[in-house]
Amino acid sequence: MKIHEFQAKDLFRSYGIPIPSGAVASSSGQAAEVAQGLPGPPWVVKAQIHAGGRGKGGGVRLADSLKEVEKAADEILSHPLITPQTGPSGQKVRQVLVEEGVDIDKEFYLGIVVDRKHECPTMIFSQAGGMEIEEVSAKHPELVLIDKIDIANGFMPYQARSFFYALDPIPEKGILQQLSMIMTKLYGLFVSKDCSLVEINPLIITKSGDVMALDAKINFDDNALFRHKDVAQLHDACEMDELELRATEYNLNYIRLDGNVGAMVNGAGLAMATMDVIKLAGAEPANFLDVGGGASEEMVTNGLKIILSDKRVKAILINIFGGIMRCDVLARGVVKAAKEEAIHVPLIVRLEGTNVEEGRAILQSSDLEFSVAQDIEEAAKMVAEQVG
Ligand code: ADP
Ligand code: MG
Repeated sequence: MKIHEFQAKDLFRSYGIPIPSGAVASSSGQAAEVAQGLPGPPWVVKAQIHAGGRGKGGGVRLADSLKEVEKAADEILSHPLITPQTGPSGQKVRQVLVEEGVDIDKEFYLGIVVDRKHECPTMIFSQAGGMEIEEVSAKHPELVLIDKIDIANGFMPYQARSFFYALDPIPEKGILQQLSMIMTKLYGLFVSKDCSLVEINPLIITKSGDVMALDAKINFDDNALFRHKDVAQLHDACEMDELELRATEYNLNYIRLDGNVGAMVNGAGLAMATMDVIKLAGAEPANFLDVGGGASEEMVTNGLKIILSDKRVKAILINIFGGIMRCDVLARGVVKAAKEEAIHVPLIVRLEGTNVEEGRAILQSSDLEFSVAQDIEEAAKMVAEQVG
């Protein structure tokens, strides 16, 4: 689960990680009011969306007067924000964070992620802050310092020191103490809140020698949310794709993609394979949808309805290999969806496995129009022909 920058900064504050003073606003008038109560000018007005790269897209603006704060907030709130991470249609902005503008002397990058290969948290630190870390890593890998953390010991002071000795130039002692304190606190937050990623980019030194987090990104492990009710309630449903949101309500694994072939499959592996053969046949999947091993008739109905309400879908492929999931359950779910919502695009069905005969009979005796494919390859070719 992702949260907004202002929510992540609230958490930083409660863990003792310094941040600039600021508050969130949902209108331009409110933004100016917030600014009035903060040190400044200058102020900074920042779009609150889950995607990064906001600076590049015009979602982070400097304002030298209350009028400018109002204008910046108005502009940010009235257009979808397009950044390198939002996709071409952008993301609607509902809130802005208004902050005191601070004088930046130096920018660092500090992050912690889970290193799956070594099964431990890993801290990443770089003196090339403010840029995308992937880019720094590709062009100047020597500037990206990485150290694994032993969860039995936690983040050790010597690890901070080994980071510092690799800096050029090495900052003065007072700065290093602050950096080290922030690293330790960030690790404490990472572990105690079951994060999958925390990132401060940039972590800055101000002209007056204070170290603070100017940006804040936190992702949480969804599987641990049950023990962090405070975190779970930070979830902002507005940031989710509407169809993906509906799918989570029905417990379906659904991800929207860019193509026009709707696909309903049972099992994540088969869903991946189906997407591959669709592409191999020259078409593009509109979604990933795994109804799951033990899907009920209702889940199948809801899954198909979600695919049908995606306006880009020009043909649908149902690829089910009945195991725990029975083909007759699938067939009943499909017929029910067709009764409740007209299926206006070609439907290709490939069924195999448990209760396949019964499933086929249910489909055949309904007044549903569909084509039958013998195997997955044929199924993919048939949908690809339909979307031409
Ligand atoms: P994003 O990573 O989405 O582009 P950031 O929060 O990192 O957004 O902001 C982009 C840049 O804007 C920062 O690298 C920093 O240079 C500047 N910036 C952000 N917040 C402030 C602030 N409070 N005062 C001064 N400059 C800021
Ligand atoms: Mg940033």
